[in-house]
Amino acid sequence: MVRVRFAPSPTGHLHIGGARTALFNLLFARRHGGTFILRIEDTDLKRSSYESEEVIIKDLQWLGIDWDEGVVKGGEFGPYRSTERRHIYKEYVDKLLKEGKAYYCYCTPEELEEERKNLLKKGQMPRYMGKCRYLSPEEIKAFEEQGRKPVIRFKVPDDQLIVVDDMVRGKVEFDSSGIGDFVIVKSDGIPVYNFAVVIDDYLMKITHVIRGEEHLSNTPRQILIYDALGMEIPKFAHVSLILGKDRTKMSKRHGATWVEQYRDEGYLPEAIINFLALLGWSPESEQEIFSMEELCRQFSLDRVAKNPAVFDIDKLKWMNGHYIRNSSTERITEMAVPYLLKAGYIKERDAEERFSWLNDIVDAVKESLTVVSEVAEKTRLFFEDSVSPEDDEAREVLKQDHIPHLIEVFREKVKQAPEVDEGFLNRVFKEIQKQTGIKGRKLFMPVRVLLTGQTHGPELGRILMILGKNSILKRLDHMQK
Ligand code: GLU
Repeated sequence: MVRVRFAPSPTGHLHIGGARTALFNLLFARRHGGTFILRIEDTDLKRSSYESEEVIIKDLQWLGIDWDEGVVKGGEFGPYRSTERRHIYKEYVDKLLKEGKAYYCYCTPEELEEERKNLLKKGQMPRYMGKCRYLSPEEIKAFEEQGRKPVIRFKVPDDQLIVVDDMVRGKVEFDSSGIGDFVIVKSDGIPVYNFAVVIDDYLMKITHVIRGEEHLSNTPRQILIYDALGMEIPKFAHVSLILGKDRTKMSKRHGATWVEQYRDEGYLPEAIINFLALLGWSPESEQEIFSMEELCRQFSLDRVAKNPAVFDIDKLKWMNGHYIRNSSTERITEMAVPYLLKAGYIKERDAEERFSWLNDIVDAVKESLTVVSEVAEKTRLFFEDSVSPEDDEAREVLKQDHIPHLIEVFREKVKQAPEVDEGFLNRVFKEIQKQTGIKGRKLFMPVRVLLTGQTHGPELGRILMILGKNSILKRLDHMQK
């Protein structure tokens, strides 16, 4: 039975890379009918916060990355937060101490720094050389009397070849001599991540550890602990880094890096999921648009690439546009409301009471949106009392000789019409053509510029209907001045 986990440290927002790790775990679990667990690794007390945990959970829920077991949901292997598991870790630390596989170390930061410098001077890799490995009871007593607070270190065996048999990267070898006895419990009595993760993965019966490549260098340490405790080692799959287009590690410089930022910009969760799935994983076919269900059926670790994935924001935008076009207008309108409120185009009351009117406006521009936040800019033309030609092209259109006459005739037609309905524009254009001989581009382009100030935009007939008789007349009057 496959059991996988996503184990974020609640030290900030949910990074786009973290979301991808969570997604790959979910997809792997679903593909194999397994269980997906959400565990919170708050081992770093200083940097962890409950607020951050809440943000991460909210973002996962928004993305539709749903776990079966873990925080919020519970399960038979809990608690699912490291800080609530300290008593469990202690048991295993004691075992290692008793068996001589771990020991107390009283070295001060100054002594450690001294050792580091000396090793560097000799051209060796800095690491802890085991100074406190064989302290006598008298030495320990003396340190205790000095008030030194010890850490607990793991005794790393010498000259051992550690092989990480990784499902993505193949066999990766590490030499234990380069590791040095590492800390498993800090002086405040709190176990570090490298220790807690082993105990948790073992007790939660995790079968596959799927996580970011940045943890590959931690894996030999974790394997040593599994071995020392006689625990079965799970399978590992380290997923490559995500790079920006310039091939450096994805960071703030490349734009938004948190899931939350994408939500705020008006991306749809399905688009992000689809995009993240293809960041490192490739399907067997050329297909690019995948629903979560399809991904759950098709995902496999052997099609996850070893080389880094490049984050292409244009591709994400393209996908998002696709999902917007395929969503109901009601949904996009609901998403659009905050942006329209912010732009001052609508008031809270409008959002509630005039939903169908808003829906028409959003529907008119929906096709052209790549992210929902663009809605304010794209719908601006509907919300202004008066418009003016926006650019040189629009100004040129209105400089033509026939414009004053056209405005007059068009204005009259609008005035006379009982209402501006669906067939209005066609009807009126035909009449004007017959009456004046103005037709084609010379007819519809000036009308478009007169009413919107722009030479492009949503379908003209829809614009007229949404504006309605009064707004059209107001705009024409303004232009005539
Ligand atoms: N807590 C680690 C992190 O947030 C994850 C470690 C793991 O998956 O083993 O990066």
